Amino acid sequence: MKALCWVGTNKLSVERIPDPEILNPHDAIIRVGLSSVCGSDLHLLDGYVPTMREGDVIGHEFMGEVVEVGPALKNMKRGDRVVVASVVACGGCWFCDTGQYSLCDNGNAHAAVAEKALGYPGAGIFGYSHAFGGYSGSHAQYIRVPFAELGCFKIPDGVGDESALFCSDAFPTGFMAADMCGIEPGDIVAVWGAGGVGLMAMHSAYLLGASRVIAIDRFPERLAMARKHARAETLNYEEVDILEALKEMTGGRGPDRCIDAVGMEAHTTGAEHYYDLVKQQLKIETDRPAVLRQAIMACRKGGTLSIVGVYGGLIDKFPMGAAMNKALTFRMGQMHAQKYIPRLLDYVQGGSVDPAYLLTHRWPLERGPEGYDMFKHKTDKCVRVAFQP
Ligand code: NAD
Ligand code: ZN
Repeated sequence: MKALCWVGTNKLSVERIPDPEILNPHDAIIRVGLSSVCGSDLHLLDGYVPTMREGDVIGHEFMGEVVEVGPALKNMKRGDRVVVASVVACGGCWFCDTGQYSLCDNGNAHAAVAEKALGYPGAGIFGYSHAFGGYSGSHAQYIRVPFAELGCFKIPDGVGDESALFCSDAFPTGFMAADMCGIEPGDIVAVWGAGGVGLMAMHSAYLLGASRVIAIDRFPERLAMARKHARAETLNYEEVDILEALKEMTGGRGPDRCIDAVGMEAHTTGAEHYYDLVKQQLKIETDRPAVLRQAIMACRKGGTLSIVGVYGGLIDKFPMGAAMNKALTFRMGQMHAQKYIPRLLDYVQGGSVDPAYLLTHRWPLERGPEGYDMFKHKTDKCVRVAFQP
């Protein structure tokens, strides 16, 4: 089959590789219908994740059709149209029992590799290198889905492929970001980053009871989407002083809840030697993490900071004094897709949110390298490009 492979920092290539096979009775094989880029892939592309190997297939936000089911699978059959959680979880451990699927004890088949390379056991994520389970990604014609009874969700009739696609990753991540805020009626929620994740966090904030949502980014087309689709007020951080503007918009108090949907901003800096630096415990002279610092300073006293933007390694220049003295609550993590997807498919089917507008480009897999170049540099007003393998 054809697949889009990582072959080095900022190098992708479409290759022919063997078709996947059922390896475990709980596996399913999915023929990929649509597979989208995600901001998390940029961390791989930029070389932030030290356990990528040449030839690894990337991609983790996808939907498709079930073509083969393992003998233990009772709730699915060939021909089912499904959206798949980008996080792999077993459904049987203590963490899964408590709804914390991205912390699953068995989701990462290579947890020991992760401990060694990163110092912590990463979640199991499709197409995210050996430290995150070593699962082949979805930018391919077929993909093996482990623990498929838990990871695959039947797409309701009337919900289109493009709408279901984002229930795989961007929507559950945005929803969890808002959920972790503990929003109370009347709250003002500020969201840094108007990518797929941030935009979905804005819809979710309203679904969970926010009275106002403020979006922060620099790309006019993304801010326009935030206004049009997510009913957000918008701030361009290249045009205004964000701290001043947020103060003014909230009567001097600051937003009640702040969401970081940006993360490492890997794509704006060279990161090739990042992990080497971390390992040597060198002090990294940089003004990062800009968003995290800004959110801590902006948040109202007693407010909540919810972080779904991805970070790795060490973070320097963290304003601990402000966070402590303002009594902020911090919540963060990889998202628990399996917990949220059924509810999100209900929202989509009921018409309260249709994430399909995130899809600005729909291309054949052969254009994968070009698609990532466009997404990384945000050219051609790209928000998400999905490949049709
Ligand atoms: P994206 O690249 O499409 O969007 C990121 C946006 O952040 C861009 O529009 C960019 O202009 C904006 N940005 C950059 N610097 C900023 C700043 N200083 N202030 C405000 N905005 C700024 O990416 P995405 O797909 O939306 O993903 C966003 C983040 O979420 C990434 O870090 C990704 O790794 C992470 N993510 C996390 C999970 C999870 O489970 N926690 C899942 C998916 C994605
Ligand atoms: Zn993702």
